[in-house]
Amino acid sequence: MELTNSEYIRELLGRHGFRFSKSLGQNFLTAAWVPEDIAAAGVPEEGMGVLEVGPGIGCLTRELSKRGEKVVSIELDKALKPILAETLGDLENVEIVYGDAMKLDLAALAEEKLGGLKKAVCANLPYNVTSPLLTAFIRANCFDSITVMIQREVARRICAAPGCPDYGAFGIFVQWYMETELLFDVPPSCFMPQPKVTSSVTRLKRRSERPAQVEDEGLMFRIIRSAFNQRRKTLVNALSSQLGGITKEQAEQALINCGFDTRIRGEVLEIGGFAKISDEISRIAQADL
Ligand code: SAM
Repeated sequence: MELTNSEYIRELLGRHGFRFSKSLGQNFLTAAWVPEDIAAAGVPEEGMGVLEVGPGIGCLTRELSKRGEKVVSIELDKALKPILAETLGDLENVEIVYGDAMKLDLAALAEEKLGGLKKAVCANLPYNVTSPLLTAFIRANCFDSITVMIQREVARRICAAPGCPDYGAFGIFVQWYMETELLFDVPPSCFMPQPKVTSSVTRLKRRSERPAQVEDEGLMFRIIRSAFNQRRKTLVNALSSQLGGITKEQAEQALINCGFDTRIRGEVLEIGGFAKISDEISRIAQADL
C-alpha cells in the first residue's frame, strides 16, 4: 500500500465515492519523501505522543506511527472514516478522533490521549485555518514542538525578523512563545489536487522562557497590533491614534525614555523593544492618573 501513489489514491477515493472539499483544505500528498521528512523533523526521538490534525487518507499518520509512541489524529470529514479504517486500521498506536480541531479542547484531549508522554504536534494543516489552529496549539501550552506544513507565505511571516516585509503581529505572537525555524519548501506538484501556492514546513519549539520580560503581556500585544495595523505610520502616530488613552506626547516620551528615535516604525523593532515600550507606557500612564 503506497498512500502517496496518485493512481492508488484515485482508485481508493473512487471506490469510496469520496470527493475533495476545497473548504476543508483537502490537498493530499502524492510524494513519499514529504510525509517521511515531516515526520522525521517533527518526531525526532522515541517515546513521543503526537497530535495530528487532518490525516486525509493517512500518509503522514502512517509515518508518524512509525516514529511516535502514540498518535492521535483529529479529522473533521467523516467521509474519510471508511477510508482511514482501510488505510490505518492495522496500526495499534494510532487513534482517529472525528471532530473539529478548532472546537476541541486540545490541551484536555492531549492529556487524555497522550498522558505523560512528551507531546508534539505534527501535521499538514488545512490552509484555510492555519493561523487559528497554530494559535490553539500554542495556547494549549502542552506541546514541546509544533511541526507543520503551511502556506509558504504564512511560514515566512511566522519566522520573519524585524525589518523584513513579512514581519508582523502574528509572527511576533508566535515568536513570543516559540522558537521558529523554516525547514523546507514543498511545491504544488506534490499534492492532489494541486494548490495554487507553494507550501513550507516549519518547526516551532516551545521556549523555556519568554524572549523578554514584560509587566503586562496584554498591553504589549495591543501595542504590537496597533503598530502593524498601520505599518506605514510612525510608532508614535500609530500608538496615539489607536491605543486609546495615550497622547502623542506620552508616546514620544515613552520612546525617548527607552532610547528610541521618535520617528521609528514598529516594523523595525525586536520583541524586546516592544516589551520595553510597553513597560514605559504603563509607567507613564500610571503616573498621569
Ligand atoms: N494529512 C493529509 C496529507 O498530508 O495528505 C491531508 C492533509 S489536508 C491538507 C488537510 C486535512 O485536514 C483534510 O483531511 C481535511 O479534511 C482536514 N480538516 C480540515 N479542517 C479540519 C478541522 N477543522 N479539524 C480537523 N480536520 C480538518
